[in-house]
Amino acid sequence: MAKILCVLYDDPVTGYPKSYARDDVPKVERYPGGQTAPTPKRIDFKPGELLGSVSGELGLRKFLEEGGHRLVVTSDKEGADSVFERELPDADIVISQPFWPAYLTPERIAKAKNLKLAITAGIGSDHVDLQAAIKHGVTVAEVTYSNSISVSEHVVMMILGLVRNYIPSYQWVVKGGWNIADCVARSYDLEAMNVGTVAAGRIGLAVLRRLKPFDVKLHYTDRHRLPEAQEHELGLTWHPTVESMIKVCDVVTINALLHPETEHLFNDALIAKMKRGAYLVNTARGRICDRDAIVRALESGQLAGYAGDVWFPQPAPADHPWRSMPHHGMTPHISGSSLSAQARYAAGTREILECWFDKRPIREEYLIVDGGKLAGAGAHSYSVAKP
Ligand code: NDP
Repeated sequence: MAKILCVLYDDPVTGYPKSYARDDVPKVERYPGGQTAPTPKRIDFKPGELLGSVSGELGLRKFLEEGGHRLVVTSDKEGADSVFERELPDADIVISQPFWPAYLTPERIAKAKNLKLAITAGIGSDHVDLQAAIKHGVTVAEVTYSNSISVSEHVVMMILGLVRNYIPSYQWVVKGGWNIADCVARSYDLEAMNVGTVAAGRIGLAVLRRLKPFDVKLHYTDRHRLPEAQEHELGLTWHPTVESMIKVCDVVTINALLHPETEHLFNDALIAKMKRGAYLVNTARGRICDRDAIVRALESGQLAGYAGDVWFPQPAPADHPWRSMPHHGMTPHISGSSLSAQARYAAGTREILECWFDKRPIREEYLIVDGGKLAGAGAHSYSVAKP
């Protein structure tokens, strides 16, 4: 019998939904490139239900309790008195999410003597200290690809929202105005702009594909270059460094993972090298940007707009400057947690748990740390700071 400690975001303030806006969500069986969507033996939820909040329990309770396991679900994750902190010492498995990260720090991992498996219900395991997981023999797995397309759609929405000045224009409507000049004084066409992505992995490449029909000039920088045929198909210009790319771009989107190489990459010095009036969209991780450098750049006009859904810490405090800085289009961390995405990452979490309990291997593409080292997808994409 295992104890599974699962940290999810709170239910809606209006209560857990009794009905939904739509009756179903389309089923995705394969992702671009051919990887199959999660294949658990069964699911005990209806795709399209709210699974990612506390009452949704990722649809896992029946499955786990039938297997004789104990499931504890909470949103209370901060501080010594939190349910997470109290329940952690004898937990065998922790399930957490980037949206509402239960930070698995070295201290917490050291305290969790039974911990063997940390599952990220989503993508991005930077809230788990990977070096500590390696040291303590904890396997770390995430549901690779489950929400990559969801995020790429959000990125495209935010780019268009900033460039066309959508949010302030919408606000004029809500205020009862018809202030066309106020709305269009900051509104441009995306057409013919230079748009670049920092990283062309699953999300970055999906963003490039989605932007191609907008007749923009597409750029990317990544540690590994894409196949020539792909560069040709999308008309991509590859840049060996972030600096060379951002110098020529009107819009920059960040789709790299957070690790020592990318932490605070967008600081005052790098932003100063961008074109004046560039837009920056970051749905990767808040800490890839220097918080105060972003505020300064928006105030000075060096950046014309900033949008994204990732912050540090999360949840962001009420006085976080990104809530009140000018020309922003921030959302809470939602891009990878649409109801469509939840169905996939809940199923993927279940697949990982089924493999674990059946002693079958977890898919390589889900593994981040295993056997005391970076493994699978983690070995390709992550780096850890030297201990
Ligand atoms: P991938 O692993 O497919 O892509 C990450 C890419 O980042 C890889 O191509 C990698 O390069 C590249 N990369 C790593 N370091 C650098 C660097 N220093 N400079 C340039 N490129 C670099 O991941 P995904 O596309 O699926 O996800 C990307 C990130 O997006 C996640 O790590 C997560 O942080 C975030 N995310 C956010 C979500 C949200 O809800 N907002 C949801 C899901 C993910 P290479 O492999 O070539 O070495």
